[in-house]
This record gives sequence, C-alpha cells and structure tokens, in this order.
Amino acid sequence: MKDDLNMTEIISLCKNRGFIFAGSEIYGGLSNSWDYGPLGVELKNNLKNAWWERFVQQEPHNVGLDSAIIMNPRVWEASGHISGFSDPLIDCRNCHTRHRADKLIEEWLHNRELAGIKNEVGSVEAMSQTEMENFIKENKIPCPDCKHCDFTPIRKFNLMFKTFIGVTEDNTNTVYLRPETAGGIFVNFKNVQRATRSKLPMGICQIGKAFRNEITPGNFIFRTREFEQMEMEFFCEPKSAPEWHKYYRQACFDFLVDIGIEQDALRFRDHSPEELVFYSAATTDIEFKYPFGWGELWGIANRTNYDLSRHAEFSGEDLSYTDPYTNETYIPYVVEPSVGVDRMLLATLCSAYRVEKLDDGDERVVMGFKPKIAPIKVAVLPLSKKLEELAFNLYKDLNKHFRCEYDTTGSIGKRYRRQDEIGTPYCVTFDFDSAVDGCVTVRDRDTMVQERVKIAELKDYLHDKIYG
Ligand code: ATP
Repeated sequence: MKDDLNMTEIISLCKNRGFIFAGSEIYGGLSNSWDYGPLGVELKNNLKNAWWERFVQQEPHNVGLDSAIIMNPRVWEASGHISGFSDPLIDCRNCHTRHRADKLIEEWLHNRELAGIKNEVGSVEAMSQTEMENFIKENKIPCPDCKHCDFTPIRKFNLMFKTFIGVTEDNTNTVYLRPETAGGIFVNFKNVQRATRSKLPMGICQIGKAFRNEITPGNFIFRTREFEQMEMEFFCEPKSAPEWHKYYRQACFDFLVDIGIEQDALRFRDHSPEELVFYSAATTDIEFKYPFGWGELWGIANRTNYDLSRHAEFSGEDLSYTDPYTNETYIPYVVEPSVGVDRMLLATLCSAYRVEKLDDGDERVVMGFKPKIAPIKVAVLPLSKKLEELAFNLYKDLNKHFRCEYDTTGSIGKRYRRQDEIGTPYCVTFDFDSAVDGCVTVRDRDTMVQERVKIAELKDYLHDKIYG
C-alpha cells in the first residue's frame, strides 16, 4: 500500500480503468451508489470464489445456501430488526446536515485520544439516547460541517428498506429488503440440517445482497445502502462456541492475509464487556486501515442461542437439536463471521496500490494483486501487426484456462504499464521469433523480469505461477 494513499487516487483509478463507476452517472448519479465495471466484477467474483473455496469447500462442517432477499416480515420481527435496527439521527439546526449521534461522539473521542487525552467513556454503543444528547451538549461537540453545536433531539431511524408485495400499498403487505443475509440462514437451519443429515457442528454460508438505508453513507464503497455480504452461521454445541469463535477469528484474519491484504494494515478489536450487545458472548472486529482511518472489515461474533430461540418463539417451530451420541437436547449456539464483499474489495484495492520510481526516472502505478485474485491473469501482446493472427490464437487458447486480455495498441512499454496499472501478473509477448522457435516472452509484473517459455508448456507454467 502506498504510504500517503488517499481515496481520490483510488476512486480515479477505479473509474478510469473500469473497476468501479458512479451509479446512474449519465443521469447525474444517485448518491453513494456504485456500479462495478469489467475489472471490478472480475475482482469481486475472485474474492467471492476465494471465500467460498476457503469457508465452504475446505471446511468439512460447512455447506452453502442462497436464500431469498424478500422474506416473511415475521423474520425481521423475530430478529429484532423491526423494533431495534435503527441509528440515532440528529440534525444540525444551523446548516441542516444530518448525522449519526453515536458516530459524532466516537469521532470526537477518537480525536481527543489522538491529542493524548485519555478516553473515560466506556462504550458509546451502550449509551442511551438521552445520555448521547447530554454528552454532545456538555462537551459542545461541533457539527462536522459548520462547526456549530446546535442539534435537534435524537430520533431513532430504522435502517430497513420497506416495500410492498402485490397491488395495494398498505400495512398488511409491507415487506422489507433484507438488512443482512443471516436471516435466510437461520430460518433454513432445520431444512439444511435435515436434508444434509448433518450432525453439529454445522456451518451454513451465504453470499448475497443486503440493503440498509444508512444515514451517513460514504467513503466510496465502504458504507453504501446496497451492498453484498458473505456470512456464515456456524451452529454448535453451547460449550464449544468460545473455541469456534477463537478458530474463526484467526481463520478470517489468515484468509485476508492470504488474499493479499497487508498484514500491517489489519488489527483485531475485541469488544469490551460493556460494548457487547446483550445476547453476544464475544465479538471481535477485524479492522483495516483505510485511507480515511481504521474501520470495521469483518465482524466475528458468538451470538449464543439468541437467534434460533427467537425464531423458535416467533414461528412456533422446534429449533432444538438432539445430539445422537449423548442424547442431549439443546438450542445450538451460533458463531457468526460476517464480512462485506465491497469492504473486502476496497481493502484489496488499497493494499494492492503502489507507485514505483523506475531507473529511467519514470514512475509506474502497480496494482500488486495476488495473482489468484487479479481480475486479469494474463495479457497477450503481439509485437507487430503481422503477428496478430498467431497471437490471437494463443490468446483464445489461454482464455480457456485463465481470464486473459489481448492488447495490440501502443508501444510494448505502454502496454506493460497499462497491465501493471490493472494488476495483471503476467504479460505474454509474441514476437517474430515466436513463430519460428515456438517460444514467447513472459514478463513478471512485480520483478519485471522476462523469461522465454515454450508455448507448449505455457499453460502449465502460468498455472503454477498463478495458483501454485
Ligand atoms: P458498521 O459499524 O460499519 O456500520 P455493522 O457493525 O453495522 O458495521 P454488521 O451488521 O456486523 O456491520 O455487518 C457485517 C459486515 O457487513 C460488516 O463488517 C461490513 O463488512 C459489512 N457492512 C455492513 N454495513 C455495510 C454498509 N452499509 N456498506 C458496506 N458494507 C457494510
């Protein structure tokens, strides 16, 4: 990662090279909505596939699921989202901007800590609405936009998007876009367990869209209203839950390092007892150092048996489990590692971005993605127009095995730079000798070393380099 990386550099590279575009741009955009372009979608798919491979395929207890986005609203009553999934909203009376009271306080405390003033507040999350209002007043916390301290009282703002099923728009057919994918997993616990004849422990994993009407979206794709999550609900025997929490806390961290996220830019943040929500026995956030500061990337929580108990109560279904060996019956505990695809992608982009000074005084921008995560694995570059037919055939052959790009425009140096900037780990140059000796030059993105490789051995050579 570049030391002084700022979001503008990342956003502009994303736009210019086709990773991420502003949503609905030709209509003036829609605030904080983003579209993934040709490279963005490849990168996103590679991250999702890596997660699936690691947490579904490689974990003997785990299976996958793809549940509906719109569910019976009783699901969200049981989960507590209808009554409690809200943020404390305040308006600045002076400039009429809208803020989250908890985030204002957290930011203020954070700045004081940076200035060396010890924080004596236990947990902002545990503060009541009145405590937050008083805290803001007593400490004269200013509006980040106009610096006045004159706020309206706090209002609770539910984050769920409402819509209607069918032709009439009334309360009887109100439904919600899911605010997290977990709900679909809990309601399918019995189905999956029965169909797979699994014994506990058993993890159910799901990737999918989630929607939250965030009050303060921003920081590019860090906080948006429509985003994608990769969640796992790991159902286990109550006493074993702390061990599984510990296991997944580390497994998630290791996964991030393995996909190329800089280890120095990652840290664990274990929630203090005052900060824990009442049903959680332990929660750890893995935070990443984004260009705008440390922020949550992955949350790993021991949610006890809260979710299944609530769904059992609201649905009337028996969601307990009887251990076939001990005959013990219990409501399973759940360990939930939950991560946003978009935040993982942002952390991947930031980690990969670097600018290098070259010997000739020039500079090159390199996206140093791990090869298996890179959107394009191989670029095939014919050295001359006359070689295009042969080179294109080679590109078509390689494309059966790797996501490749074929580029004929500009000098070879310019073409290398373009590939460096999108993070392509290998460039294959087809030159005049290639037609005669059956070899091509393979250039490594990071070392810039070039090697002559036989075309007959090229596929295996690249495969070893990319996935080996
Ligand atoms: P935050 O405190 O940042 O709002 P959260 O604690 O509400 O996050 P969770 O409900 O634990 O988040 O959601 C699990 C994961 O989903 C988060 O760790 C994050 O990666 C992702 N996520 C949550 N909200 C958003 C959002 N609005 N935009 C993008 N990703 C999100």
